Amino acid sequence: MFDTHCHLRFPDYETLGGASKVLDRATAAGVRGAITIATTVEDARLSADLAESDDRLWHSAGIHPLYADQPGDIKDLKAIAERPRCVAFGELGLDQHYAKPNQDTQIAALEGQLEHIAQWRTEGLAKPIVIHCRKAFADLLPRLVESGLPPEEFVFHCFTGSPDEARQVLDFGAWISFTGVVTFQNAPEVARAATLVPRDRIMAETDAPFMSPAPHRAVKPNEPKFVVHICEALAQIRGCTAKEMESQLDANAEQFFGITLPDSPTAF
Ligand SMILES: [Zn+2]
Repeated sequence: MFDTHCHLRFPDYETLGGASKVLDRATAAGVRGAITIATTVEDARLSADLAESDDRLWHSAGIHPLYADQPGDIKDLKAIAERPRCVAFGELGLDQHYAKPNQDTQIAALEGQLEHIAQWRTEGLAKPIVIHCRKAFADLLPRLVESGLPPEEFVFHCFTGSPDEARQVLDFGAWISFTGVVTFQNAPEVARAATLVPRDRIMAETDAPFMSPAPHRAVKPNEPKFVVHICEALAQIRGCTAKEMESQLDANAEQFFGITLPDSPTAF
């Protein structure tokens, strides 16, 4: 089992002893590792330092739409993306659930990153892209099409849309990743969306410290060890065993991010 998306630099983990202690707890639960996802340029740099200190951890380089008003130069992401444990750009995208930063600021950060990523690709630096899309499918999808970047290199993380929106993402050609929201009784639409995703385009993540899955919804912070509950929920929704779901999810994470997971006991 593997957590494709969490934020281990968030201060929430100080009370748990920091990232390596949190990863020890994940290892004990059969979780082989995690990707800590960046939210700002500075966070990306510090995430690289963190990932380079632990073989179970990888990181991304990007500016989150809700941090689009923070200081940082998009151009500086290139050197961070070239570091040895960087496996993706992102998370980047649009969030229309919150009013701040405003859409113009979010769009500028999104478009700036897509343009640079396309340019760096021509210079030989190619990485998959983690997309944050909250209530913004209609505005975001055309921008991704327009970028000319390969659709199969995008993953829509923390999918909380409808089955129809899942269909649009799949028709575009991107992957879809699910969080603890698939375990929530009050999110049947997301569970229905999870039945639509082909087995070779689905991933799982905690998005920790947010979104603790059932049966630990009240536990804060969420952490990578809880990704096993997302795997169990996906198995139940899609009608396979947890063991089968785990092997598929691990193989998908290895393929999408171009990594080899450390050998360790599996969760199921
Ligand atoms: Zn995230």
